[in-house]
Amino acid sequence: MQIAIASGKGGTGKTSIAVNLATVADEPVCLLDCDVEAPNCRLFLPTPLDGEEPVTLAVPHVDAARCDGCRTCGGFCRFGAIFSPGGGSPPLVFPELCHGCGGCVVVCPRGAITEVARPIGLVRSGRRGGLRLVDGLLGNGESMTPAVIRAVKRHAEPAGLTLIDAPPGTSCAAVEAVRDADFVVLVTEPTPFGLHDLRLAVEMVRRLGRPFGVVVNRHGIGDERVAHYCAAEAIPLLLTLPNDRRIAEVYARGGLLVDELPALRSRFRDLLARLRTAGETDEEVAVAI
Ligand code: SF4
Ligand code: SF4
Repeated sequence: MQIAIASGKGGTGKTSIAVNLATVADEPVCLLDCDVEAPNCRLFLPTPLDGEEPVTLAVPHVDAARCDGCRTCGGFCRFGAIFSPGGGSPPLVFPELCHGCGGCVVVCPRGAITEVARPIGLVRSGRRGGLRLVDGLLGNGESMTPAVIRAVKRHAEPAGLTLIDAPPGTSCAAVEAVRDADFVVLVTEPTPFGLHDLRLAVEMVRRLGRPFGVVVNRHGIGDERVAHYCAAEAIPLLLTLPNDRRIAEVYARGGLLVDELPALRSRFRDLLARLRTAGETDEEVAVAI
């Protein structure tokens, strides 16, 4: 089973939910940190590395001797990653814009284009007890985030429990992370900004056809509009965590809530149990610590 933890905006505590859920699982769990621009699950769960692999993208390489400058490749590429000036000149390739779709290779009538591997990031893995943590790291200046996320997701355990810490927002990176999850947990804050971004995230998961529910973090800093929205939209409100200084302190020093605030351990265990019955959860768990 794959459970993705996502949020419409950064800073909601999404990663905290993911690492604490991973910690309370009784069985082996695979945690995939797909927030590849800022992976930080490892800060909460220091894990000795036992594997590291580069992520590459296949980008075009043009053999100028075979090219007749027909411009077919430049006309095909929708990303402007290959520009053919015509006049018999070979095209220019802009590898940083290339999505690695391979289309220009296929459409070139002279077989003048081959592919070369361009490094765009890393996937690292490690184990700590029953937890396998795999994270992706997008290279400096790179923008092909979904390709690195796909590389991380290839490490999912098909038969076991996989948790995915998705990148914040509703961009193609977030879509890539949650698109095939069995359940998506949307983490938000009870503020106008939180509600705004939650609406966008809800639209995303609905379009993807994924079952989902909401966790409200820092309850008490805003108002009840998120709760009212969830009720009106029949969205399960899975868990409400209070705006509590002790929680903030544990988070700030990279600790685990379920270890340092014992009352929360059973709450996270309840949440995980409920997520396992994906889509059937309809009761809020309000937490007092
Ligand atoms: S591989 Fe695809 S994205 Fe890259 S240059 Fe060719 S057509 Fe454009
Ligand atoms: S499609 Fe092939 S032959 Fe035509 S301009 Fe591009 S590389 Fe050259």
